[in-house]
Amino acid sequence: MRVRFWGTRGSMPVSLTWRDLRDRLAQVLVLANRRQLDSVEKATAFVEHELDFSLGKTFGGHSSCVEFEAGSDEYFVCDMGSGALPFGAHVLARQSGRAATVNIFMSHMHWDHLMGFPFFRPAYVPGNRIRIHGCHAALEHAFRLQQDPPCFPVPFSQLRATIEFIHLDPRKTHEIGGVRVTPNLQFHSGDSYGFRFERDGKSFVYSTDSEHKLDDSKETARIVGFFRGADLVIFDAMYSLAEAVSVKADWGHSSNVVGVELCQMARAKKLALFHHEPANDDTAIARILRDARRLEELTRGAQALEVVAAYDGLEIDL
Ligand SMILES: [Zn+2]
Ligand SMILES: [Zn+2]
Repeated sequence: MRVRFWGTRGSMPVSLTWRDLRDRLAQVLVLANRRQLDSVEKATAFVEHELDFSLGKTFGGHSSCVEFEAGSDEYFVCDMGSGALPFGAHVLARQSGRAATVNIFMSHMHWDHLMGFPFFRPAYVPGNRIRIHGCHAALEHAFRLQQDPPCFPVPFSQLRATIEFIHLDPRKTHEIGGVRVTPNLQFHSGDSYGFRFERDGKSFVYSTDSEHKLDDSKETARIVGFFRGADLVIFDAMYSLAEAVSVKADWGHSSNVVGVELCQMARAKKLALFHHEPANDDTAIARILRDARRLEELTRGAQALEVVAAYDGLEIDL
């Protein structure tokens, strides 16, 4: 399976500001001084290989939208945050006029996970089939509601694709488009659900908008069981641990530290920090990643856990 991140930001999309870009360019120009970067190729190689990620690139700003390819003609995607805009363009370009089947899995319907759907162009194309899966009773209501006047100019009823809503029983494993899908209830305002996807002996977990309190051993064991042996865990690491246990306790999100601890207990292979706090710039996200990697090194058992910070455009092959 290939996992592709279209939106990795939590709560609200953000963008680099002109100040961010100016300050970054100034730092790069100083580093590039006397380097004879007299061609685009040389300059690209310099940016690619010699600059820190937070200087030469950006984690990006679209809200939650994560696609995975499962070796079939169907599309699979978790959440419809603003990353659904570029994801929709990708679907249309790849299909080049052929009808598409898109399976959407909704963790919950908070707006940052839903706001991209009215801009998901495949939903406007007759012949496309869009299957929206979720565990919440209000799933369909939420999709229709956000396109009602006066909030959006095009009502849901005018979408031309065939759109189905499919309720998933969270106590069961489902077979969808050749993929085994298991939902898992999570602690979050109004409830959220993680999903575990399995195919051809590979597995990954999408677990966002979930607050984990490690002092509840029964609940910890339940989450660890859900993450058990996963090749990849995409994890809500919105805060640093200090924030998560103090000012932002009970806000419904987790930290980089808790992500490392749960994945180590579950013997997962890779952890992708996700749902980045919109107030954090690239330097702050890079620091959260560095801290998580340092903790993993210090507490490593028999099996190493690879830790990355998800960014818009990241692809991970399982
Ligand atoms: Zn969210
Ligand atoms: Zn939420």
